[in-house]
Amino acid sequence: MKIAVNKAHFPVTVLGPGQRIGIWVQGCGIGCKGCVSQDTWAKDPGREITVARLLTWCREVAAGGFDGVTISGGEPFDQPQALRALLKALHQWRAALDHKFDILCYSGYPLTRLRGRHAGILELLDAIIAEPYVENLPITQLWRGSSNQSLVPLSDLGRERFLPFIDAAADSFGKRIQTLVEAGRVWYIGIPARGDMAALEKACRERGIKFGEVSWRQ
Ligand code: SF4
Repeated sequence: MKIAVNKAHFPVTVLGPGQRIGIWVQGCGIGCKGCVSQDTWAKDPGREITVARLLTWCREVAAGGFDGVTISGGEPFDQPQALRALLKALHQWRAALDHKFDILCYSGYPLTRLRGRHAGILELLDAIIAEPYVENLPITQLWRGSSNQSLVPLSDLGRERFLPFIDAAADSFGKRIQTLVEAGRVWYIGIPARGDMAALEKACRERGIKFGEVSWRQ
């Protein structure tokens, strides 16, 4: 089974508790206005890799220990068969470890729709952050891009790990963005405040740095 992946990174510390493996899938048919990840929208078979290869990468980068896996995008539920295969592989890996990592997934679809169409996938998650990004709603809660988005634990482990954070404020841990440079690109991981990317672009332009392609417009 193959899955289209935009990028993957370890450690991610701003999209869920602890040190996490971050996997961003490629392809999103939702198209929320103001999405900062528009580079993930297009379906791109050229970005497909096997679930087995992705798992091998996960095992290598997190060999020293980790707390969880965050799957985002893109829209993970636009590749339901691949998502299910990835989750099953993560469960097999978890069963063989002597410490439990949690699995958190983002989706821009309403939770009611996911419960109706993808109950079998939800059973494989410990928590989900669902609902579309709404540009004119504020960022109030930790790990969420707009105030309509809910963090819902889905398992005993999910309740143990995520219940303390359901009502946590967006800036509970201070740092909300990670930056990394990889393959000649600068990546921002996390939930930027409204206007952050435009302000960053302006500040860089004033210092003579002009952005080429950016993910927040097409
Ligand atoms: S915010 Fe998420 S669901 Fe909405 S368009 Fe962007 S990638 Fe898709």
